[in-house]
Amino acid sequence: MNRRDFLKLSTLAGLTGCSGRLPWQGPPVTVNMPGMAWGHLLRDRLPTPNPTRERSVEVAILGSGVAGLFAGWRLAQAGFTDFCILGGPEPGGNTAGSVLAGIPCPTGAHYLPLPSMESIHVREMLADFGVLRGDPHAARPVYDESVLVHAPDERLFMAGKWQEGLVPQHGLDDMAREQIRRFFAEVARLRTERGADGRRAFVIPLVQSSSDPAFTGLADETFAVWLGRNGFTAPPLCWYLDYCCRDDYGEGIEQVSAWAGLHYFASRDGHAANAEDGTVLTWPEGLQPVARHLRERIGAVRWLEGMALRVSEHRHGVEVCCFDAARDEAFTLHAKRVIVAMPLHVAAHVVANLADFGFDKTRDLPASASWLVSNFLLDGFPPEPDVRQPLAWDNVIYGSQGLGWVVATHQWIRQAKPAQTVFTAYHALANLPPAVARAWLAKASPAELLELAGRDLKAAYGSGFQRYVQRVEITVRGHAMATPAPGFLNRPGIAALRAADRKILFAHADLSGLSVFEEAAWWGEQAARHVLT
Ligand SMILES: Cc1cc2nc3c(=O)[nH]c(=O)nc-3n(C[C@H](O)[C@H](O)[C@H](O)COP(=O)(O)OP(=O)(O)OC[C@H]3O[C@@H](n4cnc5c(N)ncnc54)[C@H](O)[C@@H]3O)c2cc1C
Repeated sequence: MNRRDFLKLSTLAGLTGCSGRLPWQGPPVTVNMPGMAWGHLLRDRLPTPNPTRERSVEVAILGSGVAGLFAGWRLAQAGFTDFCILGGPEPGGNTAGSVLAGIPCPTGAHYLPLPSMESIHVREMLADFGVLRGDPHAARPVYDESVLVHAPDERLFMAGKWQEGLVPQHGLDDMAREQIRRFFAEVARLRTERGADGRRAFVIPLVQSSSDPAFTGLADETFAVWLGRNGFTAPPLCWYLDYCCRDDYGEGIEQVSAWAGLHYFASRDGHAANAEDGTVLTWPEGLQPVARHLRERIGAVRWLEGMALRVSEHRHGVEVCCFDAARDEAFTLHAKRVIVAMPLHVAAHVVANLADFGFDKTRDLPASASWLVSNFLLDGFPPEPDVRQPLAWDNVIYGSQGLGWVVATHQWIRQAKPAQTVFTAYHALANLPPAVARAWLAKASPAELLELAGRDLKAAYGSGFQRYVQRVEITVRGHAMATPAPGFLNRPGIAALRAADRKILFAHADLSGLSVFEEAAWWGEQAARHVLT
């Protein structure tokens, strides 16, 4: 197929219309759906266009999310130079960000917990970034004060008023108090628990967790069932745990496995010399500066615009058919090795011989959750009802299906509040079958998306909130992250891709089956190690 026909097809498929701006009663709304149209073209098996140029390289990294960038950073750091990284439809992937009226804000991930000892790969990267000062192996490193989240960091709107922290406190009966105390005691116990193999029960990266069935067996039931079996039934506790699962995994306690639900709490034990345990690292635009740092270290000379349409393994190497939409041209990459750093649901359409690796897409592809990340540009700050509980970095509404909002200007150290700010509201479309959620997102009008995105803000500030809103930018992530549902630890095809050490290597958070920065970075690290050894 020639390039002109390919472009015509792409346009018909809506490639050029994946973001739009429309007049709205009130603020203008922009809706972005990164990667969606391209993903659908791959799914629908668009014929590949004829290439107009070629490039040969030792290693090609396909995808520039955390996993791909981390692999590139590690290669560059080790002095390996003959590689390139193909950005894909969304440079940075789920760590991308935006800028509204000069204010940087996230369109994906927004914080990094203090990395635990096992996440030494992340500590080394943060040391290279200058965010972690001194020895990355130290039990309590010093972190850059400007990225340690400032107080007040979290608050919860419950029973008509704000409280500090996200664990419910207002109007609890004795049973709820006792269950909350008992749950956190259980988590504290599990944090130090070891399996028969001597490993900690729950670790980030999760492959270092104990494989003792006493713990891995928890991956066979839902968190909701485990909570019920263990007498954790109080609604405030169950809501809080459901919120945590939706916030980390995009699905609630009814969908997520007990292993994943407990891993969230029991695996994290990073400490800092200059911050309390549980403090997080954050930037106005979320984790985008981390991705930017990795990209800078990789170097512009190794960056390629475009996406992979087809990856074929041959006797002497790998051929990658690519398309650069900005330059309207197809090109071929010849590489001795390729690191496939795109989501597995995309790789399933792009990697010609994926089945040869032992990956069966009908059996092994994880379900994925959908998210909305909505940036509200505000002229001024809406009034807070209670001066004792001022606006925090993270603000959550008890009982809501939303995940609250973070404040992009929270880390700015200034005498006075800025004239404008951005509130970033998060919403995972949890508890809906994933295909139903995606079908709704694909046809929802900007007005419907805005209504969903703004629900928590309206609950906190009432309809007067609208007066402050200048502009809204909504990012729809239909396949945002893999759901760690029961059975997720035992997918043979995922195990096969993790272990693959041939001309094609794989690196993506999907290999963990749950989506957090440290896990994505871990798989980038492993792929780079394979190349370097
Ligand atoms: C809304 C949201 C909030 C989150 N918040 C946090 C948080 O606060 N803290 C945290 O630790 N984690 C968070 N996460 C999870 C974290 O962002 C991810 O685990 C991590 O960014 C995943 O990185 P990745 O490289 O595995 O994948 P992705 O981010 O999916 O990157 C995949 C890359 O592949 C590219 N690609 C796709 N198709 C092709 C193709 N055909 N050819 C070439 N390239 C292609 C894409 O453009 C992209 O660059 C969040 C995730 C989401 C969605």
